[in-house]
Amino acid sequence: MNKQLILVVEDDAAVRNLITTTLETQKYRYRTAENGEAAILEAVSHNPDIVLLDLGLPDMDGVEIIRKIRGWSSMPILVISARSEDTDKIDALDAGADDYLTKPFSVEELLARLRVTQRRLIAMQGVAPTCQTTFENGALKIDYAAGCAYLSGEELHLTPIEYKLLCLLAKNVGKVLTHTYITKEIWGTAWESDVASLRVFMATLRKKIEKNTDAQQYIQTHIGVGYRMIKV
Ligand code: CA
Repeated sequence: MNKQLILVVEDDAAVRNLITTTLETQKYRYRTAENGEAAILEAVSHNPDIVLLDLGLPDMDGVEIIRKIRGWSSMPILVISARSEDTDKIDALDAGADDYLTKPFSVEELLARLRVTQRRLIAMQGVAPTCQTTFENGALKIDYAAGCAYLSGEELHLTPIEYKLLCLLAKNVGKVLTHTYITKEIWGTAWESDVASLRVFMATLRKKIEKNTDAQQYIQTHIGVGYRMIKV
């Protein structure tokens, strides 16, 4: 049973109706907001489980709403935007959005993204991050206390950067992390050259944790945007 409360922020009535009708078929509860001010009021007063956020609103930029919400809450925010430019997605993700969907989108795509966000929500609620000492995802295991990672019980020989990258992706499992966010977390900077280095480290890390080269088992590439660890 889906009992999650979804806040739908969208000024276009046709799109809003499409979304709410879709949510109804899946038994999600929802509330709606047509502009930024109403969205923030709804978010504060009803504390939704997930926010579906259109970036182009009449009174406020969606990115500004993300920043405001992030000021007090880590509630998952899924951006729905007609802006297909990578920079817009990156701005939204860097401001703290969890994922994005580009218009026009299919109903199936929307529901799939919601499920991903929901799993992340459950993962967030299930584990108190401060006392989490291990991470497990399929055959992958990280022992934070020991500073070691394992694949099918075998210790992985990772460089310090690869280990840091793996932990960062694991900590944000299900969430798209932008190149800028990752390079800032890893190196403290976000130069073009860091992004190039990141590609190299990501490739070597992948080689070690994705033995089956047919599929991207753990790390998904979002071209021009960043990377995401998939919950397998
Ligand atoms: Ca709009």
